[in-house]
Amino acid sequence: MSDPVPASYTIAIDGYSACGKSTLARALARRLGYSYIDTGAMYRAVTLHLQRNGTNLAAPEEVAAALAGLRIAFRPQDNHVLLNGEDVEGEIRGLAVSRQVSQVAALSRVRRAMVEQQRRMGADGGVILDGRDIGTVVFPDADLKLFVTAELETRIGRRLEELLAAGRKVSRADVAANLQERDYIDSHRADSPLRQADDAVLLDNTHLGLEELVERGVELVAGIRTAKK
Ligand code: C5P
Repeated sequence: MSDPVPASYTIAIDGYSACGKSTLARALARRLGYSYIDTGAMYRAVTLHLQRNGTNLAAPEEVAAALAGLRIAFRPQDNHVLLNGEDVEGEIRGLAVSRQVSQVAALSRVRRAMVEQQRRMGADGGVILDGRDIGTVVFPDADLKLFVTAELETRIGRRLEELLAAGRKVSRADVAANLQERDYIDSHRADSPLRQADDAVLLDNTHLGLEELVERGVELVAGIRTAKK
């Protein structure tokens, strides 16, 4: 039998929108008994906060003032994101937030605040974070870095199914436009653009089921020690 996985690893999972990375991260965290930090949910919560405040994104002092009044946390029992104590898990997944989140996430002031909090939350290890810049910026020394991809059509189909199952009225065209727009902005922004870290393992799950993807993740985690020797 192989040795149990140490409780202290930091695992970074990055990739394009709706590529399956949060599903992988959540399942892997459960298998390893690690905590899971959905950094995309944090940028979504900031976006909702700025929208509610009517903040002008082009006015740095307005953004700074809004950030000063913002607290983001995850509820331990279900990992729902809390915005100043309010459960906003449902609201942040809708198209209104999805349409603006990449503009908000391109602001350096916002990124600085989020990265600082993410580093604090992950400081003790035993953690899996997923996002766009985890392996390149947030934890460049992570023990394992995964970069998840899937073909665009697969990603659109999965996200559409997810949103429809949650009772949202969205069309395939809306979802397709949103994913492509976010991917473009996320990979072309000046601050921390989305890219695969040089030492990340590429996992294409276009033709993989979730279980196979998770198995592959577990194997890679088990191989960390061998790789470090
Ligand atoms: O992961 P999710 O699709 O929920 O992320 C929403 C958005 O948050 C992304 O499209 C991106 O603009 C931003 N994001 C980011 N850096 C991260 C995680 C998410 O810029 N680490």
